[in-house]
Amino acid sequence: MTAQREWFEKDFYATLGVSKEASSKEVTKAYRKLARQLHPDANPGDEASEARFKEVTAAYDVVGDESRRAEYDQVRQMGPMGGFGAGPGHGGMGGGGFPGGGMGGFDLGDLFGGMFAGGQGGGRGQRGADLETRLTLSFTEAVNGATTSVHLVSDAACGTCSGSGARPGTRPTTCGACGGRGVQAEDQGPFSFSRPCGQCSGRGSQIDDPCGSCRGSGVERRPREVKVRIPAGVDEGQRIRLKGRGEPGRGGPDGDLFIVVAVEPDTRFGRRGRHLTVSVPVTFPQVVLGAEIEVPLLDGGTVTLKVPAGTRSGQTFRVKKRGVPEKGGTGDLLVSIEVEVPTDPTEAERAAVEALAEAMADARADVVADAAAGSTDPRGHEDPPPDRLDGETP
Ligand SMILES: [Zn+2]
Ligand SMILES: [Zn+2]
Repeated sequence: MTAQREWFEKDFYATLGVSKEASSKEVTKAYRKLARQLHPDANPGDEASEARFKEVTAAYDVVGDESRRAEYDQVRQMGPMGGFGAGPGHGGMGGGGFPGGGMGGFDLGDLFGGMFAGGQGGGRGQRGADLETRLTLSFTEAVNGATTSVHLVSDAACGTCSGSGARPGTRPTTCGACGGRGVQAEDQGPFSFSRPCGQCSGRGSQIDDPCGSCRGSGVERRPREVKVRIPAGVDEGQRIRLKGRGEPGRGGPDGDLFIVVAVEPDTRFGRRGRHLTVSVPVTFPQVVLGAEIEVPLLDGGTVTLKVPAGTRSGQTFRVKKRGVPEKGGTGDLLVSIEVEVPTDPTEAERAAVEALAEAMADARADVVADAAAGSTDPRGHEDPPPDRLDGETP
């Protein structure tokens, strides 16, 4: 019920910047745009963006799903009532905010019943609870997607009585206290309230001969294995919703299962949104003279990259379409070049580097000499025209 309470307080349409009448296409479009802007990968270290990103995702979890959106709209329509079980004497009911008008004989129980059952189960059913579980993926699984399973222990329909709570061969009978309605009316001045029937806990039926396994509850704790298909390109902290895989409803729809993804880091590769990053060591001669180098790929293969002469250490090259294979298009592999310095050079290498140092010192001396000679050049004294300084163009 926590989710529903939150629904009273949060305007998910405003969060997504769409109107209440927006089509599901418009909602998805607005969400995608915001998600791109606010994605933590696009704003590293920006906590405000990250918080907004989470809000937007939470809003889309609800209004991006047709049936949840309908439920949300129904909850919002009722207006802020100060939570559930708003009992007799709660002051916030005087307004005309109820759909369908008439104050007298308004049946609160029906409204709640319909809401929690998602419109099913004749007003008595209870929607199953949403469950959340964590799933740790390897870096490669997160990039390429994976089919795996999660193990959880949760309430499930009793295997002995199929959830009826009655001993096999017998059936629950209609509750005598409420006549099967599951609610009992209670008059409070101008209002008629309904509360769940105390005799049958709102189920509308009673069990005369309870099932031995579940003692009549119809529910047992059971370990479950749920198969999950993880799409390519999921990232740390992402929530994946599996509709109807949460706890079973009691006469109402089953709850949802949310999977929160954790991703193990890779020793070699990194992620930047849909791009992969990798750092490749090269030698000093390779960057000075230019070279073709082998770049590792996540799948174990390699690709040849041409490093031009004069490449700086830390410079990045893009290998197209070798990144994360997302639905919206595969990202690139960003290759960062790292010049390695030999820590234990051989005699020959040392001699070569010494020769290089000497050659470079000579070249530097020549440059200094040139500059000194060039200083007599009148052009060296010329001031730039003042209009160039302030950057104005006529
Ligand atoms: Zn049972
Ligand atoms: Zn009853």
